Amino acid sequence: MSIRRIYQYPEPVLRVKAKRIEVFNDDLKELIADMAETMYDAPGIGLAAPQIGESIQLLITDIGDEREEQRYKAFINPQIILSEGSQIDEEGCLSVPELTANVKRFKKITLVYQDEEGNEHELEAEDRFAVVLQHEIDHLNGILFIDHLTPLKRNLYKKKMKKTMVAGKEPA
Ligand SMILES: [Zn+2]
Repeated sequence: MSIRRIYQYPEPVLRVKAKRIEVFNDDLKELIADMAETMYDAPGIGLAAPQIGESIQLLITDIGDEREEQRYKAFINPQIILSEGSQIDEEGCLSVPELTANVKRFKKITLVYQDEEGNEHELEAEDRFAVVLQHEIDHLNGILFIDHLTPLKRNLYKKKMKKTMVAGKEPA
């Protein structure tokens, strides 16, 4: 296992629609293990493969009880098939440093996905778990949470990032 570099906005890989995964082999399991190590190191509660530069439809989440250590779950080729209600919650992103903002999401979703063996599952998620899944599924479609903000807030952030980059400073 190894910790991978997390790609940050505005890297192009974060804007590409990720490819479906068709092969379920040991390489895939190794990649999932790397993603878990990277997520826990960050630390974060979710990570999508494009965030480590792999443009494939894979994400992991861990929003378990803090006392339970490292119980993450991988979702492959996830698709939201039902959604209802709405909620607003504060989000941040390992690929969008130094910004948190309120984002409106569905309250409850049903998704279909495959596990690392290729078996198909259906899952209902609500509240915070549904937020994390929607955020990570967005990554697989080249969408970042800043895309859900008002143009004013988004432009303020872009300006701030440009300044940071011109100054040659690495974002934290
Ligand atoms: Zn993110």
